[in-house]
Amino acid sequence: MPQHYDLFINNRFVPAVSGETFESVNPHNGAVVGRFARAKKEDVDLAVASARKAFDEGPWPRMSGEERGKYIRALADKISEHTPAWLPLEVEDSGGTVKKLQGDFWVSGNHLKYFSKLAEHALDDTLSDATREGSSKNMIVRKPLGVCAQIIPWNFPLMMAVWKLGPALAAGCTLVLKPAEETPLTAMLFAQAVQEVGLPEGVINIVTGYGEEAGAALVNHPGVDKVAFTGSTEIGKLIMGEAACTMKRVTLECGGKSANILLEDADLDIAIDGSLYAAFFHSGQCCTAGTRLLLPESRKKEFLDLLVERAKQIKVGNPAEKSTDMGPLISQKQLDRVLGYIEKGKAEGATLLLGGHRLFDSGFYVEPTIFDNVTPDMTIAQEEIFGPVLSVITYKTEEEAVQIANNSIYGLAGAVWSKDTDRALKIARAMRTGTVWINEYHILTEKAPFGGYKQSGIGRELGPDSIKAYTELKHIHVDELKSREKKFWYDALLKPVSLSKT
Ligand code: ADP
Repeated sequence: MPQHYDLFINNRFVPAVSGETFESVNPHNGAVVGRFARAKKEDVDLAVASARKAFDEGPWPRMSGEERGKYIRALADKISEHTPAWLPLEVEDSGGTVKKLQGDFWVSGNHLKYFSKLAEHALDDTLSDATREGSSKNMIVRKPLGVCAQIIPWNFPLMMAVWKLGPALAAGCTLVLKPAEETPLTAMLFAQAVQEVGLPEGVINIVTGYGEEAGAALVNHPGVDKVAFTGSTEIGKLIMGEAACTMKRVTLECGGKSANILLEDADLDIAIDGSLYAAFFHSGQCCTAGTRLLLPESRKKEFLDLLVERAKQIKVGNPAEKSTDMGPLISQKQLDRVLGYIEKGKAEGATLLLGGHRLFDSGFYVEPTIFDNVTPDMTIAQEEIFGPVLSVITYKTEEEAVQIANNSIYGLAGAVWSKDTDRALKIARAMRTGTVWINEYHILTEKAPFGGYKQSGIGRELGPDSIKAYTELKHIHVDELKSREKKFWYDALLKPVSLSKT
């Protein structure tokens, strides 16, 4: 019998008001992993009311940043403590390989520790230059923004939860988190850790359910002050529009179509393996995936031969086996979508060099797939596929490479591979993306911002400013003149006009 998980509202586990549930399935074999409460509007109302009360009346926004930091640190420690138990369950729920999830869990704990430290000084007041002794004091004050709805995707379930709730908690906000319906498991395990840590009631609420039900109810809720979303560009745009009704603050981290540029002086061994990692890590289900590989015409054949040879060595299979490099896609929907793009690539005239088929009789597996002779206008060069499909595009000059890289509605990430760092830096600066790696890929640090240009999103996560996205700025003017006659408005408006005749 699959385990049943309730919603987490006001530090208690409660079933959905309707009593309805939905199932998450193991992408490796389609087996049911867990049964989850299906939150709808009435449940979202309860979760928001709980977060609202915790924000408006509870201790969380009122305690010192240092105290909040201690709670966040305790949550980070819970991730390390529970990793051995949670990780195998997450393999089943998300289809992530053991290798990938070991990284995710470690990073999630570390990032949460970083947010716990940021909490200590997040809301320190500063004085503005406008302050004049004896005249006025002008304080710039940061206050927690309020109740936040946090909607996350299925590709990095725990890490995305941490990126959202970490800075929100540090700033003193309260929140309602909605994990993706495909991967609700780790969020509910994390809820157990919230109970263990004894976080004040209502600070973290977690509702499982569908995007168009629970997600939409959160986005439309008048009691929510901000929506932080990671997911598709399509839904990101929808959320931005809906949020306008109540002028909620929004941060969006959406799609990508990252260009990965190999210069002719790149170190071949590193650049080719790095490019495979860029494209095929987590079966290409990363918003930063390097799905457009730009090769110099002068060395294309040599680069491409090695790429295909090495790609054949990628071990695709059961993600629970430690030696597996690439696991399944998340769902049947995603499998159909990816196979559809492969057909489109062929139909538009790209050359299928490797893969292109579904693998195995069960599970949502697709082979690592490489297309050559892709032109920048083709669908597979423009649209985000979110699967293991790499499009190879050839360029003649560096200028052309930059132009092709920037020819996208997206601007999330990209990379340049070269032995000449100055040369690579020039290209990195010209690329219109939020992250550029030089001789590296996918690596992120909690100490630098992450987010996109153009239709890849709005705002940044991680980095020292990440908490600011969960605050409102306030100016407090303290008058120190203490004399009515000295005030600028006295002359202008209220000074008695002398009507005496001369
Ligand atoms: P993907 O295409 O990667 O599945 P989505 O953008 O559809 O990504 O989903 C990302 C998250 O957004 C999920 O938690 C999903 O439930 C949620 N979501 C989907 N549709 C909506 C919506 N209309 N309003 C709010 N949230 C939504």
